[in-house]
Amino acid sequence: MALYVQKYGGTSVGSIERIEAVAQRVKCTRDNGHQVVVVVSAMSGETNRLLGIAKDLDDSASRREIDVLIATGEQVTAALLSIALQKIGVDAVSMTGDQVQLKTDSRHGKARIQCVETENIQRQLDNDNVIVVAGFQGRDEDNNITTLGRGGSDTTAVAIAAALKADECQIYTDVNGVYTTDPRVEPRARKLDHITFEEMLEMASLGAKVLQIRSVEYAGKYNVPLRVLSSFEEGTGTLISYEDVKMESTVISGIAFNRDEASLTISGVPDKPLTAANILTPIGDADIDVDVIVQNSHGSDGLIDLTFTVHRDDYRAARKLLEHTCTELSAKDVQGNDRIAKISVVGVGMWNHPGVAKTMFETLGNEGINIQLISTSEIKISVIVDEKYLELGVRALHSAFGLAADENCVN
Ligand code: ADP
Ligand code: ASP
Ligand code: MG
Repeated sequence: MALYVQKYGGTSVGSIERIEAVAQRVKCTRDNGHQVVVVVSAMSGETNRLLGIAKDLDDSASRREIDVLIATGEQVTAALLSIALQKIGVDAVSMTGDQVQLKTDSRHGKARIQCVETENIQRQLDNDNVIVVAGFQGRDEDNNITTLGRGGSDTTAVAIAAALKADECQIYTDVNGVYTTDPRVEPRARKLDHITFEEMLEMASLGAKVLQIRSVEYAGKYNVPLRVLSSFEEGTGTLISYEDVKMESTVISGIAFNRDEASLTISGVPDKPLTAANILTPIGDADIDVDVIVQNSHGSDGLIDLTFTVHRDDYRAARKLLEHTCTELSAKDVQGNDRIAKISVVGVGMWNHPGVAKTMFETLGNEGINIQLISTSEIKISVIVDEKYLELGVRALHSAFGLAADENCVN
């Protein structure tokens, strides 16, 4: 008998029929003699619908109340799936994040899991129940409902799998595994049978939303075997593990991208020690994550320009703060662009292959795509481009690095 944590995403539970299909899949796992904890997302579109209602009411509604509101989406699905399971004779009980005692910090909208008490779940497992947990939510030390950031049900599943020492955490979704890039953008993308935690972490952090980045971090930290599978078809999906089974000769494992980027530039800032810190501290204090940062010196006039990128949702708030800093530091002006996207090539093997950058820049150049910013690490190169070139750039790079299912690897 194994213990599986199975997470079903929004599309997989997007209608009553689909919830019934999930119930059948869970029943099958039970009938094969295994224990199951299920984690569910809200039905597809529901979280956005709830956010929309709050926005219509008040564009700057408090993050605490937003969390109370959007946590309801997952609760609805958990109850419906339990009902569907009971209807086909499976003993099931639904639980909210609070009931499973999933404790988080107090960063509403992007809370981090601190611990999961297993007592309540274990009791239900011992009673032979399937437990259906509402994903994406927890409770902070002041008993406030918190949510874990978009895509956060993945992290709920991994955290519960880690706490229960489950045999595998299975993420059921609307694609049958992790691909070399988003198969919706490049239909020739190739499914990977295995990927290492390190590569998956990099892919997720660079925008491959098939797994929430924190779920990969968490799974890597607690060594939880993680598998991405389709809710709609049979298959073995993609296993994410420490074992480096697929890296034989490839340098690039995939192309990731992120549409939700925005850049801000403050120009003509007097160049002194602490200038970058003075510009970025108010942004960090407002809980806004900064990604790519580039500083340019004008040379002779002792002034610098500093450009950085933030999530598009944070653009307006960051711009306001930067305009304030501009006045305080007697800088020239602030400019911004919230129509940009980031494309990244990822691969643990690239650090000793200088040709990767050349191939990337030439490929984009040959397509007439102008690169606005560049950022590199040992295992990735990212570029910021105009968002209208995103799809073109992803497909061109996917082909240039020989990643398609019908191509031989050329890197
Ligand atoms: P769920 O609602 O099940 O959590 P998500 O929409 O969050 O599903 O994640 C699945 C989606 O991730 C896929 O439909 C696909 O478009 C997208 N995706 C992005 N990058 C990749 C990738 N490299 N491999 C597979 N899917 C990807
Ligand atoms: N419902 C939440 C979202 O849409 C969490 C999740 O689906 O994982 O982001
Ligand atoms: Mg998701």
